[in-house]
Amino acid sequence: MRLREIAMRASAENIRISSPIIGEEEIESVKSVMLSGMLAQGACVREFEREFADFTGVEHAVAVSSGTAAIHIALLAAGIGRGDEVITTPFTFISTANAVLFTGAKPVFVDVREDDFNIDVEQVNEAVSRRTKAVIPVHLYGQPCDMHALMEIAEDYDLIVIEDACQAHGAEYHGKKAGAIGTAGCFSFYATKNMTTGEGGMITTDIKEIADRARMIRNHGSTSKYTHEMLGFNMRMTDICAAIGISQLKKLPLFTMKRRKNAEYLTENLKNIPNIITPVIKDGRTHVFHQYTIRVVSDELQFSHERRASRSAGGAEGGVMRDMLADILRRNGVEVGIYYPIPVHKQPLYRKLGYGDISLPVSERLAKEVLSLPVHPGVERSDIERIADVIRDTMNC
Ligand SMILES: *Cc1c(COP(=O)(O)O)cnc(C)c1O
Repeated sequence: MRLREIAMRASAENIRISSPIIGEEEIESVKSVMLSGMLAQGACVREFEREFADFTGVEHAVAVSSGTAAIHIALLAAGIGRGDEVITTPFTFISTANAVLFTGAKPVFVDVREDDFNIDVEQVNEAVSRRTKAVIPVHLYGQPCDMHALMEIAEDYDLIVIEDACQAHGAEYHGKKAGAIGTAGCFSFYATKNMTTGEGGMITTDIKEIADRARMIRNHGSTSKYTHEMLGFNMRMTDICAAIGISQLKKLPLFTMKRRKNAEYLTENLKNIPNIITPVIKDGRTHVFHQYTIRVVSDELQFSHERRASRSAGGAEGGVMRDMLADILRRNGVEVGIYYPIPVHKQPLYRKLGYGDISLPVSERLAKEVLSLPVHPGVERSDIERIADVIRDTMNC
């Protein structure tokens, strides 16, 4: 399979920051679902669930309509609701915290660590109150959180742990897959993720009661046709999506290998550049590089001609150098991403909810330093060389 040919590209020249990799297998399997006359949740969803559970190493997997729905449903299935507090980080996609709001519970934000961008477990310990019911660690960019330490705290305080593994399909922590360590794991199959169904999500768990409740909640709270036990939603996955997912899951190990190879090249070729910090992989973890994210830290400016421009634009503090490098990469045909430019507690919505005065300095600083470079499986050797060259030239290395 030549990934380049079937990667969806915006233009022949731009190296995209993400790209679904769709092949004949996906197209054929969708076609057969279309011709079967059974399009909605059915046999393909069941097969996808079985295979995803086996892949992740859990007893149960419940397919849903999105990663957001997965987190929302997992929280509800675990009994989270009004009056409860759920600890998570603001350095994530807004979906993580919104899912808590949907249940009526209150998100409580703690800061992240600057080395792996993940939840600072010591701060979780300090944030626990008598209302705390759950914690949502986010395996950001594809590297698992410090789950041993977190699970210890969870045990001490009897907390539910819902892993946001929406960026961490197949990532491992001391031999266990992300999504197989906490009470439940949540995955997204959005088009930009490590594997896709267009839109889609999955809940993984070893706890049968949670899986059963999740199946009810995704389907109007029903246990059997037209018997409704509880208030639920329509958050089902279609067989069309599941057919894509089955094919994608088979290719995931190859996709991950390509991401890691691209990441390895970048780390090797961007090391020792002043002001750039390449991703740190912690002991006992495998990183699946949903994003390859560097930090551009501005103390001593190393730019040449851009240097004057930035000075006159008001100096290099607060993300100026990051934004400049991003701009130069874009002008050289390299799409880059900033995940995420505004920490959740500083979002207009959360300011209105009263979070505006909270200070979480690491998240706030990282939001100005992070820069994600393309490493998806459609990025070939010549692309990755170009990316490294542009950065080295720009930084005068
Ligand atoms: C993508 C993502 C989600 C939400 O998934 P959707 O499928 O887009 O709803 C949640 N959390 C994180 C960290 C994500 O990256």
